[in-house]
Amino acid sequence: SAFFCVCHFVLCTTVLHCFISFSSFIFTLLSVAECGNGHIVCNRCCIELMNKCPSCRLPIGHSRSIAMEKVLESIQVTCENEDHGCKEKMSYSKKYDHGKACHHARCSCPLAACNFVGSFNQIYQHFRGVHKHAAEEFVYDKVLRITLSVHHDLIFLQEEKNGDLFILNNSTEPHGYRISVNCIAPPCKGGIVYSIVAKSGGAAYKFNSCTKSIQNWDENNPPSVASLLVPSDFFGSYGQLNLEVRIQHPKK
Ligand SMILES: [Zn+2]
Ligand SMILES: [Zn+2]
Ligand SMILES: [Zn+2]
Ligand SMILES: [Zn+2]
Repeated sequence: SAFFCVCHFVLCTTVLHCFISFSSFIFTLLSVAECGNGHIVCNRCCIELMNKCPSCRLPIGHSRSIAMEKVLESIQVTCENEDHGCKEKMSYSKKYDHGKACHHARCSCPLAACNFVGSFNQIYQHFRGVHKHAAEEFVYDKVLRITLSVHHDLIFLQEEKNGDLFILNNSTEPHGYRISVNCIAPPCKGGIVYSIVAKSGGAAYKFNSCTKSIQNWDENNPPSVASLLVPSDFFGSYGQLNLEVRIQHPKK
């Protein structure tokens, strides 16, 4: 039949797996509808079919096939990053959330001159191995004192123990500079709390925020995030600013 519904392939795990890998809409498939004769379609097809069973034309969509939903939920599928080393298996309804969190997802080295592409863990190792001198090392929950020059667009920060990679970004504004901290991490890994204190003479600006997770850093197009706005004249006579940066340990 030309009618294409995942429900028709439910007994064929291989086809279901292909179909789920191929089509992202299926991640939203959470319910299976059943007509009075026991034919089944997914909730999405139900809408497209205007609640008429494709097999017998009886109304469909008013009752669910809980048993078939359980069968679908029990089928374990692999991660889309399986080829890149992810060994995780999950039900198809968890696949979308896992994909957003998967540490084997691809990201590119944030250093503009470098073309390395790898998983997040590979990027952390790569950065430590190849660009060690390009990053300031820090420890979670401890204050890192760094000097930011007006000429610095960014400073890479790498965590001493697990290699997590952050970017302290410094964007020029008409009357000053915008400073923020971003994390090179999967999309779901958001909201690592950090603080910046900018000091000049006896005065200080203090800023608290959460990092944004970035997969592919583009230095010409930094993300628009909450940031500390420092007036130009707050930088010293040599165009330098003393910063105290503290990144809170992310809860596992
Ligand atoms: Zn369907
Ligand atoms: Zn039917
Ligand atoms: Zn994965
Ligand atoms: Zn690199």
